[in-house]
Amino acid sequence: MSNIINLKIKAKYIQEYQDKYPLIQKEILENIDDLTQEGTIINLITTNNKFVGKGYYGRQNKGYGWVLTYIKDENIDTEFFIKKIKEAIAYRVDFYEESKKDITTAFRVLNGEGDGIGGLTIDYFSGYYMITWYSLGIYAFKDMILKALLLNIENTDDYKGIYEKKRFNTKGQYLENESDFVCGKVAPKPLIIKENNVNFAVYLDDGAMTGIFLDQKDVRKTIRDKYSNGKTMLNTFSYTGAFSVYSKLGGAIKTCSVDLAKRSLSKTSEQFTLNNIDAKSQEIIVDDVFNYFKYAVKKQYKFDMVVLDPPSFARTKKMTFSVSKDYVKLLKEAIQITNKNGIIVASTNSATFGMMKFRQFIEKAFRELNGRFEIMETYSLPKDFRVCDEFKEGDYLKVVFIKKLN
Ligand code: SAH
Repeated sequence: MSNIINLKIKAKYIQEYQDKYPLIQKEILENIDDLTQEGTIINLITTNNKFVGKGYYGRQNKGYGWVLTYIKDENIDTEFFIKKIKEAIAYRVDFYEESKKDITTAFRVLNGEGDGIGGLTIDYFSGYYMITWYSLGIYAFKDMILKALLLNIENTDDYKGIYEKKRFNTKGQYLENESDFVCGKVAPKPLIIKENNVNFAVYLDDGAMTGIFLDQKDVRKTIRDKYSNGKTMLNTFSYTGAFSVYSKLGGAIKTCSVDLAKRSLSKTSEQFTLNNIDAKSQEIIVDDVFNYFKYAVKKQYKFDMVVLDPPSFARTKKMTFSVSKDYVKLLKEAIQITNKNGIIVASTNSATFGMMKFRQFIEKAFRELNGRFEIMETYSLPKDFRVCDEFKEGDYLKVVFIKKLN
C-alpha cells in the first residue's frame, strides 16, 4: 500500500492551492527532501497544519505530482478511481453514441487533470482502451486504476482490450521493446478506426505513438469540409498525413506532405490507400521542412493552403526548433509560398504560451513581410479533451485559420 506523507506548502503559495490549482510544483513545497518514493500519497497542508488537498508524488516535466482530492477523508483507492472513471465515461456519452454509429470510433475517455486525475490519460480506439502513464508515480496505482477501468467497461458490448503507454523513464531508460498490451483481446495490426467517416490505421503496440493525434479531429473536419475543394495544399510536419488525407477527401486538387521521418512515407501512403486514394497521385516528401521551404521558393511553388503543425520542440542534426522561438520564422516561410487569398492553418500544442501570444506571432510575421491577413476561425481542444478552469495550461491546443489577403 502507498505511503502517506504530510508536506507543507510555503505561505505565499497556499491561496493558489486552496483555489484548487492541481499541479504540485517543486518550489511550493517546504520539506521536499521527505519525498523519496514516487506514488507516495501527499497531504498538502498549510504552515498551521490545515489540510489543503491530497495527491501523489510523480515526477514529470510539468512538476512533482497532482492533487487528486480536496476532501480530507477521501481515500485514494480503487473506489476513488472507479468514481472518477465513471464520471469521465458519462461525460463522453455522445462520443460513445457516435462510435456506435461508426462515424468517429476514437476519442479521449479521460483527460488527466481535466477529469481529476493528473498524469493519466485514457483513449478509446474502436473498443480498445489505451492508458498513458505520465510518471512512475501514477504508474504505482496501476492495479487500482486497471481494476477501476475494467469494472466500468468490462460488461459493455464494445469492450475488446486494454493497452498502455509508459511515457516516463524507468532508471533513465524508456522501455521501447516491451509490449504495450495489457489484457483482453489483442488488437489487429493495424487497427482501423474511423474519424468523421475517414478511415485511419492505428498501431497500439508500435512505439511511443499510435499514428493519430485525436485532439485535431475538429480541425481536420473543417479543413475537409470548408477549405479544400479545388485547392492545392501543403502539409508540413505531416507525420502520418492525416491533414492531407482529409484535404484530398474534401476535393483538393493535390496534396503535398513533408516530414523529416522516413517512416512518414509508408505511413502516409497507408492512410491514403485506406481511403481509396491512389497514394502515388499525392506528393509525400521526406525532408526537413525548412529545406523544403527553400526548395519551394526556388522553384516558385505556391499553395492555396499551408498547414503548419510542428512539434513544440525538435532537434535535427542541423538545428533545434522550438515553437516559442521559431514560430514567426516558420510563418514567414509559409506566407511566402501561399497564394493570395490562400489559407494558412497555424497550429501549436505548446503549453508554454496562450492564444494572445500566438496571435502576436502571426501579426509579427505578416508585419515583417508587409502582408495583410484575416483570421477566419480558431480552434482549441475538442470536448473530449476536457480541461479544468483551475489549470489553464491544460488547454494547450491553438489553431488559427488565417487568410492571406495580399
Ligand atoms: N501534423 C501531424 C503531427 C505532427 S507530429 C498530424 O496532424 O498528425 C510532429 C512531426 O514533425 C513528426 O512526425 C516529426 O518527424 C516531424 N518533424 C520534426 N522536425 C521536423 C523538421 N525539421 N522537418 C520536418 N519534419 C519534422
